[in-house]
Amino acid sequence: MSTPDTIAANLARIRERIAEACARANRPAGSVTLVAVSKTHPAEAVAAALAAGQAVFGENRVQEAAAKFPPLRPAHPELRLHIIGALQTNKARDAVRIADVIESLDRPRLATALAEAMAKEGRRPRLLVQVNTGDEPQKAGIPRAGAEDFLRACREEHGLEISGLMCIPPVDQDPVPHFRWLAELAARHSLPVLSMGMSADFEAAITCGATHVRVGSAIFGARG
Ligand SMILES: *Cc1c(COP(=O)(O)O)cnc(C)c1O
Repeated sequence: MSTPDTIAANLARIRERIAEACARANRPAGSVTLVAVSKTHPAEAVAAALAAGQAVFGENRVQEAAAKFPPLRPAHPELRLHIIGALQTNKARDAVRIADVIESLDRPRLATALAEAMAKEGRRPRLLVQVNTGDEPQKAGIPRAGAEDFLRACREEHGLEISGLMCIPPVDQDPVPHFRWLAELAARHSLPVLSMGMSADFEAAITCGATHVRVGSAIFGARG
């Protein structure tokens, strides 16, 4: 694992780059939230980031997140956990129990499962709809063409309040058209949260209006 000093230095540098990108885009410095993606990295790495002032984390897998995060909560009331990975319906209840934000709502069956889980748990994490902006067959996310109908169904049929949108553009393409497309969809639906941009492209995402950037390897190092 990266040392606590390395993690703190990486975080400081990413925060600087976010502030610079905000300045270039004429956006207020605090308008972008850094989600530190700690998947595959041990709880010690998360503790090092918390000690360096980082409060918001992203994890792909509910089981991994459930092992790492609840023990840290009592000492860190500021901690916020985002589930950002493909979510199976049978993990919906665990996700609702531990997450503050679920970024990967992408199909009607999951909307049903999350609505049921929220009723049972009496807990309502914020929800983002993940859009498969590249319409890639292997990738999670609602296809582009289905996004508007799905947003409507989430609200009207499932009674879910949707806070925003998330996307992961294809690795082999310029991400900017994908970021722009997602930003326009969010604007049309008055959705305030736009989660887009990772280690390689978060500055471009900020230019396109990202409110949340999900940065992993540039903070915690390469994943094993
Ligand atoms: C792993 C992951 C990230 C972080 O990717 P890096 O390239 O390591 O910054 C962001 N978003 C999602 C959905 C991920 O799965």
